[in-house]
Formats: sequence, structure tokens, C-alpha cells
Amino acid sequence: MIVPIFIPMAHSSGWSTRRRAEEWAKLARTPWKTLRERQDALVRKLIQERVYPFSAHYRRLMDEQRIDPRSIRSVDDLRRLPFTTKQDLLTSAGNEERRRDFVLAPSPELVRKHWPWHKKLNLLSAAGKEDLRREYTPNFVTFTTGRSSEPVAFAYTPHDLEALLKVGGRMLDVHAIHDPQARIVNVFPFAPHLAFWQATFAGFETGRFVLSTGGGKVMGTSGNIRLVDRMQPAVLIGTPGFLYHLLRQAQDEGKRFTKVERVILGAEKVPSGLKKKIAETLAEMGSTQAVVSGTYGFTEARMAYSECPTPHDASSGYHTYPDLCVFEVVDPVSGEPVREGEKGELVYTPLDGRGTTVLRYRTGDLAVGGMQTEPCPWCGRTVPRIHSDLRRVSDQRALNLTKIRGTLVDLSAMGTLLSGLPDVLEWQVAIAKLHDDPLELDVFTVRVSLRAGAEQVAARERIRRELHDTLEVSPNAIEVHTNAQMLEFLGMETELKEKRFLDLRPKA
Ligand SMILES: [Zn+2]
Repeated sequence: MIVPIFIPMAHSSGWSTRRRAEEWAKLARTPWKTLRERQDALVRKLIQERVYPFSAHYRRLMDEQRIDPRSIRSVDDLRRLPFTTKQDLLTSAGNEERRRDFVLAPSPELVRKHWPWHKKLNLLSAAGKEDLRREYTPNFVTFTTGRSSEPVAFAYTPHDLEALLKVGGRMLDVHAIHDPQARIVNVFPFAPHLAFWQATFAGFETGRFVLSTGGGKVMGTSGNIRLVDRMQPAVLIGTPGFLYHLLRQAQDEGKRFTKVERVILGAEKVPSGLKKKIAETLAEMGSTQAVVSGTYGFTEARMAYSECPTPHDASSGYHTYPDLCVFEVVDPVSGEPVREGEKGELVYTPLDGRGTTVLRYRTGDLAVGGMQTEPCPWCGRTVPRIHSDLRRVSDQRALNLTKIRGTLVDLSAMGTLLSGLPDVLEWQVAIAKLHDDPLELDVFTVRVSLRAGAEQVAARERIRRELHDTLEVSPNAIEVHTNAQMLEFLGMETELKEKRFLDLRPKA
């Protein structure tokens, strides 16, 4: 008889990375029906083994509403739980006693009370206890960035940091960055925000060289340009506004960036017009094959999702991870689910999170084409994709909406429109009150700098027409400034995030 010899080996980090990459490769080609069945099993574990036992907020809520955790057996059953909103998070954050109610926090009593005996067996040893402590104890945090609300902290545990690594690797895979030598420059601002850390973790996971510059505020645009010039990276990652500015300035200085193959934009919505402008600028600098792709992520998800490479006037949508999260698409008014591919608000539930955990979180993002579950026509992956045309939900809960002269305006849509215009280099929108009097009319000014050779009268006319036709607002003035002046207005070198919208109206 042959006895197999088992040689124990220390697991190198390369081993875990490879295992995670293989797992993703398999997952991303598994038929959707099988993936959905697995999600149902994950939902049961999520509710029965983690959220109900260890989340003070959801245990209270389910007890109050008499929802038996064992009755939630599938993704569809999640609908029996109420939505969680940004307001719920703000209320909890503002209350000293309830501040940590969304963080999963096991205690010996809770484990004893809620876990089945076979799960408790592991905890008899000191190592088992330590594993549990480590799995659930937060050691990292990122914050939301609201225009008009206090930042809310989202805690990660070592388990969640491993997911952040995993997702980083998956994102580079979806962006088809396969060359292990590919060098990456990350120009997201140094900040406790998801975008910066997700990009950084993508490098940690894949062993790619990632240089993080910290963005314009840390070393100025010229410092960023010098580093990109020295590195000659294959991949640039950052916010659309700052990257576009960086490339234009480098081009003005006569720099050649000839090796760029991918530009990955994040933290903001990416209009297809801007993708094209970035690709054209890069082509003039010697990178003729650059593909510009967007990503979608939000603090509450603690992960981001990527588009796979397509021509700039098309989009694959954002590829999600069915083992880590589930998205519902609902009618923003009734809260009822819409049919596949129909417009609706994205509602997010993590399937494998620890730390700060929200169920059925209303993102406030409206996916115009909903979600798609048939295989991606561009890469063939079978994971659900979020349609890339995202808007803010048009109701008063959304933070990106403001009233200009009585009309509710989606500022993010306005930004998308202005960045997409071919003649516009930089833009800023200012809303003030006539004579600075709170009772007077709103004065809405658009400031722009224009591409060299652009005809001023025609450009103004086009801005006015597009704003009117798309958003039904007409600016009182369209000012054309030099690009240097615009960079000053925007704080491109001095602010963490450029100031695109100024609301100068005095509070009545
Ligand atoms: Zn794809």
C-alpha cells in the first residue's frame, strides 16, 4: 500500500495570492444560476451566524419587528428586512451609546447564545479564541466624504483587509493588466478614503509596483509629472479631474508618456466624453493604445468594481463579486424591486464582511440600465454587472442635489456634462445670491477654460444649450478664464479634492 507523504509547507504570500486569483478565475466563469444559489447560502450564514448574533443595530431591529433570523434563507428573503439609509448611519454616529451598533462585535455570551455547537467547538482552544478575536477586531478605517454631512467611519478587520486585497487583485484582472512587470502610478490623494487604499492594495495583492504620489496637494502637479516621467508607467490611477489636468500640463511641458496602456478612473463619475479626451491627450504624448476605464465604489461597500476594456464610447458596466456582495435594484419611490435591466436605485448588502456591516444599504445611486446577469459581451465573465450610467436618485435625501432658482438640479450630472464637452479644459460652477441677499434670486455662474483654438462665442453657446436641454437650467453668466486662473479657482494644487461647485449663498 502506498502511503501518501504529506509535507507541510509554510504558506508564502504568493501562495495566498495565487489561490485567490484561481478562485476568482473560476468564480467569474461560473454560470449565474449556480452563483445565485451560493449567494442564498451566504445570506443564511450572514444573518444567522454573524449579523443577528453580533450586530446590536440589526438584532434590535429584527427583535422589534419580530423577524426570525432563521426565516431569511435566500437573497429574495432579504426583502423582509427594512432598508438601511445614510440617515441611519448618521443617527448612530451622532449617538455616543449607539456609535458602534453597526460594527459586528462577538462576546463570549453572544457566541454561547447564538452559535451552533459545532462552531463553538473551535473556540475551546486558545488559538480558536484568538482567531475569532482577530477576525472581528477592527484595525483599519475609511471615512465617507459627504458634501453636506459629517463623515461616517467604516471599520475593517483583518478579514476585511484580506477582502480589500482580494478585490484589488480582481480589479487589475478585470482591467486586463496581466503583465507582472506593469508599473502603476496612483495619484489618488493620501486620505482615509476607499479609493486611495483600494488602489494601493491592488499593488500589495498582485506584487505590481505601485507608486502613490498622494495627488496634487502633496507634491504639486509638477512633482507628479516628474515622477510619472521617471517611472514611465503602464497604468495611471486617479480621479478624472486631477488626471486629466496632470496629462494636459505634462503635454504642455513637452513630456512623452509612451507606455501608458490603462487609465483607471475612480472616486467620481466618468463621462465618456472625458474618457475620449484623456485618450486623445495620451495619444498625442505617444501612448496610442491607452484604454480609459471607470470604477465604481463607495465607502459603505468597502470595495470597488471595474469596467473591463472597451472602446471609449461603450461600457461593459461594473463587474461585481457575487461571493462578496449582492446588489438589489429597486424603484426609488416604492422600494419595490424592478425587472432586470430596468432603471432603479442600487441597494447593497455585503455577504462576507466583518467590522461595520450594513444590510440593504440604499446607495442613492440610480443605475439607468439596472443590473445585468448575462455574461459580459466584452470579457465573458458571468458575474452580475452594474450599468455604468449612474445618476443620483432624484429626491431630497440625495446629497448631490441643489435647488437653483427653484429647480432641483443634479450637480453630479452637471459635472458629467461639463467635463464631457470637447472644448472645455476646466470648469467650475458657482451659485450665489443677487447682491448677497438671502431673499434675492439665485445667480448661477459657469466658469471655464477652453482648449487652444476653441471659438469662445460658439463654446459659450454650446454650454448654455446643453445645460438647458439636459438639466433645464440656464446660467446667468458663462465666464471664460485662462487655464492658470481656473486651476487657482479649483485649488488644484492646494485642496484634497478640487472645488468644482461653490455654493456661496448666505443661509437665510
Ligand atoms: Zn467584461
